[in-house]
Order: sequence, then C-alpha cells, then structure tokens
Amino acid sequence: MRAAIFRGPGELAIEEIERTAPGPGEIAVSVKAAATCGTDLKSYRRGHPKLFPELPARFGHEFAGIVTEVGAGVTKFQPGQRVVAANTAPCGSCWACTIGRESLCENLIFLNGAFAEELVIPAPIVERNTYVIPDSLPFEAAAPLEPLATVVHGIHEAGISLGDTVVVHGAGPIGLMFVRLATLRGATVVSVDQSAWRLEQALAAGASTTVDITGLDDAERLDAIRAQTPAGRGADIGIEAVGLPQVWEQTLDTVRPGATAVWFGGTPKGAIVRVDSSRVHYEELTMKGVFHHAPRYVATAVELLSTGQVDGMSLITETRPLEALVDSLEDMAAGRGSKYALVP
Ligand SMILES: [Zn+2]
Ligand SMILES: [Zn+2]
Repeated sequence: MRAAIFRGPGELAIEEIERTAPGPGEIAVSVKAAATCGTDLKSYRRGHPKLFPELPARFGHEFAGIVTEVGAGVTKFQPGQRVVAANTAPCGSCWACTIGRESLCENLIFLNGAFAEELVIPAPIVERNTYVIPDSLPFEAAAPLEPLATVVHGIHEAGISLGDTVVVHGAGPIGLMFVRLATLRGATVVSVDQSAWRLEQALAAGASTTVDITGLDDAERLDAIRAQTPAGRGADIGIEAVGLPQVWEQTLDTVRPGATAVWFGGTPKGAIVRVDSSRVHYEELTMKGVFHHAPRYVATAVELLSTGQVDGMSLITETRPLEALVDSLEDMAAGRGSKYALVP
C-alpha cells in the first residue's frame, strides 16, 4: 500500500510499504480522508523530537475512514464502520491523569501514519478516543477532530459568558474554530488577522467584526483592536491562536481589567513574552496556557462535528489526492491555503 514516509526535515515522500495487521486491542482503518495541519508543516520543515523520536516514520494524524479489520479482544468496533479517532490517548494512571489533567499526561500514546491507504490505531486510542461517525458526516469534515478537540479545551478554559466580547487573534483553522465555538457560547466575536481571505472565512464562521492589522504599527494595532470592544475597554476574553510571542503580547495588551487571556498557540522553545506585571496586579488579569486535549473534549468535538454545529468542511481549503501531500504543505507554508484534505 502507499504511505507517506518521513525521513527527516524536508524528506517526506509517498512510498510503497507492507500493510500491518492490527494487534490485540488495535483496529485497522482504510483512510478515506486525512487532513494536513500546522504541526505537520512544522515537523516537515524542522523535525519534531516528541512526535518523531525515531526515523524513518509514518506521517499524519488527522483522519477518518472505514474499519477494515479488528485485532483480538476488540468488541467496540467492527469492519465496515465509519470512524474517526484522536491522535493520542492519555495513559490514565500517571499523576496528571489521576488528577484529571489528561492533556499533561506523561505517557501520551501518539498515532502517526494517517497519510496512507490504511493505518492501525493503537489500542489505548481505540479504547478511549475512537468514535463511530454518522453517514451524514463526510470523511473530510470529520478528519480535523484533533484540532477541534484542542479548541474545545481552550473554550472550556476561557470561561466565556453570554454576551461577552471575545477577540480571537489569528484566523487560521484554529482561530476559525475558536470563532465558531465562541459564537456558539453566545459571545460577540472580533477576529484579528493580516490576511483578507482568512478574515472573510472568520465572518462566515460567525465573527461580528474583523480587524485587518496589515501595515499597522504597534500602537495602531492595539487601538484598532480595542476600538471594536465595548467602550474601547478591551476584550472580556482574548484568545491567541497564532503561536507567536508578539501575538501573545497583543492578546494580553487588548483585554479589559479583570479579563482572561488564553495563550493557545505554541511558540518556539525558549521564547520570551513581555508582561506588564503592575497591570496584571491592578487589573487582576488572568493568563492561561492551554495545550492539547483530553478524552472529554474529544467526545464533545465528535458531537459538534456529527450534529453539524461545527462544519468541518469549512476548514478545508481543497480536497486533493494523497500524492499532493508535499505540494499541499508547501502551499500552506506560502499562505495559499490553510488545510488540505488528502484522499488516498
Ligand atoms: Zn493536527
Ligand atoms: Zn497519564
């Protein structure tokens, strides 16, 4: 069968490999759609020691497909079922899992290999983070389950109340999901980005207004964002969905007193963010880092996709054949598209 094999930064290709049969507790899934994501692009360019400790490795982690074979002891699934799975499962027994902080699990089990004709889902993911999806949900729309589950986590931490003004910084796929979910939570959403076509998508996802920060200097950016909040006070909740230290700062700099800033986008290791500590004190600001997801957020994300409350298709720039994987990552790098569904 054909599968993407990753051999190191910049070395990614579709190769012919042997199919693997599922072991005890595992299931084999014929991939019907696999989605590219920012993590794939990062890994392709720079490598990713956590996701790819050993090379060569299979590649890709957002997918949906049809069960082809189940391993010994699997009773929850059977061949022919349409399924989607998250990219990890927590161990359930480390200190973090024990206190309910499963996104911090010390022994997360990862899945790689979605860009292929078939993949085997590891037993812990079969057990805790795999779901049957309805016939009405296209495979391409179900594939972005993992990022949606992380955004469900972010929304949970944000603590949005009815009528809040939420400013979402960044209108890539993650930012758009935040726009949609904050809207579902009853917020008035302002979307900030520097790409006109991404801001168009944010309006379609439910944003009330957008701020295009292209060409603005630091002070003008902050003024333009605050101008879209009640009385120019600042956002009730600010959400960073880019992963750049200057945008983390922009998020904190445009919230009102008493607000929460959710710093969601992962920044490069060792990156430093400037914080006015006196403002944090006198304005009682809350800053929250949010990482990854947990089984309860995956369950919610499956529900949102299955009921159509979140239209997964709206996140997909284009559907392409599996062979277009590298070209699609290059198109993402060049800003021509944000998420591609690849069909083997
Ligand atoms: Zn992803
Ligand atoms: Zn654990």
